[in-house]
Amino acid sequence: MPPHPSNLPPPYEGGCACGAVRFRVEAAPLGVRVCHCRICQQAMGAPFLAVASFPKAAVTVTGETARWRSSERLWRHFCPQCGSRLTLEPLDGDRLGFPLAALDNPAALHPEMHIWISSRVPWLALADDLPQHAEASPEPYRSG
Ligand SMILES: [Zn+2]
Ligand SMILES: [Zn+2]
Repeated sequence: MPPHPSNLPPPYEGGCACGAVRFRVEAAPLGVRVCHCRICQQAMGAPFLAVASFPKAAVTVTGETARWRSSERLWRHFCPQCGSRLTLEPLDGDRLGFPLAALDNPAALHPEMHIWISSRVPWLALADDLPQHAEASPEPYRSG
């Protein structure tokens, strides 16, 4: 899946609601996905998570985060001051994810697909024509 043609070029900056944690990314995303899985719904307190993944080497995070392990393969970081959910850190890949909503310009990047549609809340109508996968994406992330 190629990058969305309307994406703005890097760098991307963002952070938590209180400003204690900031991040900066110097590379284009490896993938941008909207995840409707139950863990994302619960962890974010929201019906879905729109998340961009980047090569780890291109990311700088400043400020202290706390983290918890939401599955065998994922750490989820948040700001201990304000509770904003930030970095997603997979244990099995050299990449870091950030919610599009945490970007200073949340419109800078555009989703490429929906995943875990099997747990989409029924009142949420998807008006885009992006690919929808019942569970995890069958496609790998692009290489950095
Ligand atoms: Zn904060
Ligand atoms: Zn998810």
